[in-house]
This record gives sequence, C-alpha cells and structure tokens, in this order.
Amino acid sequence: MAHRVTLIPGDGIGPELTEATRRVLEGTGVEFEWDVQYAGTDVMDENDGDPLPEHVLEAIRQTGVALKGPITTPVGGGFRSVNVGLRKALDLYGQVRPCKSYEGVRSRFDDVDLILIRENTEDLYAGIEYEQGTPEAEELIDWIEGHGGKLRHRDAGISIKPLSVTGTRRIVEFAFDYARRNGRRKVTAVHKANIMKFTDGLYLRVAQAVAAENTDIEFDERIVDNMCMQLVQRPEEYDVLVCPNLYGDIVSDLCAGMIGGLGMAPGGNFGESIAIFEPTHGSAPKYAGQNKVNPMAQMLSGVMMLRYIEENDAADRLESAIADVIRDGQSVTYDMKPSRNDPTAVGTSEVADAIIEKLGVRVA
Ligand code: NAD
Repeated sequence: MAHRVTLIPGDGIGPELTEATRRVLEGTGVEFEWDVQYAGTDVMDENDGDPLPEHVLEAIRQTGVALKGPITTPVGGGFRSVNVGLRKALDLYGQVRPCKSYEGVRSRFDDVDLILIRENTEDLYAGIEYEQGTPEAEELIDWIEGHGGKLRHRDAGISIKPLSVTGTRRIVEFAFDYARRNGRRKVTAVHKANIMKFTDGLYLRVAQAVAAENTDIEFDERIVDNMCMQLVQRPEEYDVLVCPNLYGDIVSDLCAGMIGGLGMAPGGNFGESIAIFEPTHGSAPKYAGQNKVNPMAQMLSGVMMLRYIEENDAADRLESAIADVIRDGQSVTYDMKPSRNDPTAVGTSEVADAIIEKLGVRVA
C-alpha cells in the first residue's frame, strides 16, 4: 500500500530539492501518494494574506507525515516564520538534527556522530515580543521596574523567554526515548543555568530529574558556551545533546559545519502523532532555480522519514546510495568539491540521478 505523505515544496531552493528527494525516495521502490501543499509568502495573496493557511495544517494532520522544503522568512516586519508557525501549530515539540560524517566529505573533522535534539515550541522562539517604543513595551517596562527589575536603558524592545517544567520534561524524556530506541549511550543537557536561573536553571533541574528516572542511559550537562568549545575539541565525547530552542538552533549549525556544511544536515520535527522532515538549512534565495545546491540534507531528511514510516530497509539502501555517491566524489555539488569553482561539480538533479543509479532502480 502506498504511503500518503504531505509534500511541501517550500520556496527558494525548496522546490528543486524536494523534487530531487521525491525522485530518490521513489527510487527505493517504496510507493508514495504525495499530497502537495503550498505555504509561504508566494501563496499569501490567494489565502487572505495568510502564509500558513489552515488547510495546509489540516492536510498534515490527515497524513501525519510531511516532507518539507525550506520556506523564506522575510527579516523584520510583522511576518512570523512559517517554519516556526508549523512546528507550534502542530505541537511538533521535538526536533532531531543528526550530524554524522560520511566518508569523502571535506571537513576538518571525521567520525562525527552527534544527535542534536532541540525543543521546538518555547524559549525566545515563543513569539512573545514587544516592540521598542510601543505602549505595551512601556507598560511592561513600568511593570518590571515596579517589581524589582532594572533595565539598563528604557528604549528597549523586549522578547520573553518562557521555559516550562512541562515543556522541558517532555523534550528531555523525548531525548532519553530517542537514545534508547536508537542504541545511543549518553544524553547531555545544554543550558546557561549559571546566568538564567529561573529559565535555564529550571531546565537543568528538570533534566536532572528526568535523568534520575532513566538511569540506563548516561547523563551529563554542559553550559552552552563550554559545549561549543568542547564540540570542536572533543566531539567524540558527546552523543545525544538536548537543548532549549535557541541554543539548539545555533549548536545544530555548528555541528552542521563539522560534517561538511548545511548541505549535509537533515532534520525532523516530531509531535505525538505527526512528523515533518526538513533540512537544517534555509531557502538560500540567491541559488533558487539554478539546479546548483546540494540536495543531500533534504534527501537525508527523507531517509529519516523512511525510518519514521517503518521502511527501514529502504532507508538503509537510500542512505548507502547517498554515502556511495559522496565517497565516489564525482556526482556531487560545488559545496562538496575541493574548490567551490570546481568545473566538475554537478547540479541538484544530477545528484539525484547518480543516487537513483546506485539504488539500481531507474525511475522517470
Ligand atoms: P540558508 O540556510 O538558506 O543559506 C545560507 C547559505 O548556506 C547559502 O547562501 C548557501 O551558501 C549555503 N547553503 C544552504 N543550503 C545549501 C545547500 N542545500 N547546498 C549548498 N549550500 C547551501 O540561510 P539564510 O540565508 O540565513 O536564510 C535564507 C532564508 O531561509 C531566510 O528567509 C530564513 O528565514 C529561511 N530559513 C528557513 C528555514 C526552514 O525552512 N526551516 C531554516 C533556516 C532559514
């Protein structure tokens, strides 16, 4: 029976990456029924100015699984990120970003094998913000100053950072479950509890309590700045990292840099019964439509999706085919060549062709 999957092409480089990924997924022989849905600024006009229309959310609720390309978030202004909006609307609280070295990737590091787990719904990404100079910001500043707080300068914009016991408990439990199901040995909680005692301090305390209930997996904790240094010095000492939203976003890009860059970093967002798979990188608008960028992060997100729908054999075969193409070093995009101007670099769709050939099943 075909798997029904929502396909969100996204914008910028999204459509060409999702198309290449659709082809390699079908190249495994697994059957899919794609439910294509559109979100982002391109479809705002036809949806009463809404970049994330309700029918898209409903479609994902129906299939329970989506493969998504990146979507542009214009900087500043009143436009909230569709990517963050999707995760919040569907309560996809757990983001998994595996960072694994493949032989043949050019990087200062080899043998990196880290799983970054990021809380997706709280923290400074909660979207509770007050613009500088507005009556709301003034009122909030008055309230803060009336309750013992002191702002260095009153002409401030304010973003609120909520970290809850409930949100922390479920992401840390998710991290331990993930570690157990995937045969991982250790969970490290990442925080800044020495400075933010009532948010990160809470996060650390709850993480320690959850760890005490999961003693079959090793646990430790690191302050986020020290974590960044340790990752580049001794990555082999770490395994699964569990982070609040903002640190998770930043540390996952650091880890992506260790395994060959954003073109190699996949991801998945998980809720109770829904999952959306998308790469770590964004829509790289300057490369849109050029058949140039690396589709492997999107494809490896597809591998994660195959595992989620329990097509483990196809997932293993697709991952091996991707690894073979990387090892061969021929049919890879510019970012994986020794120099960025290498004339032998191939385009996005040619990478898909090479992977399909390795899979041994030709599809049109
Ligand atoms: P970006 O990840 O889109 O691109 C940064 C640079 O990384 C690119 O210029 C390119 O050099 C490189 N890069 C990215 N993907 C690559 C690939 N597949 N192959 C080769 N090189 C690649 O980051 P940005 O420029 O900060 O963001 C662009 C837009 O994407 C913004 O609107 C941002 O909000 C959005 N964004 C979306 C998501 C998402 O959809 N989940 C995630 C991050 C950023």
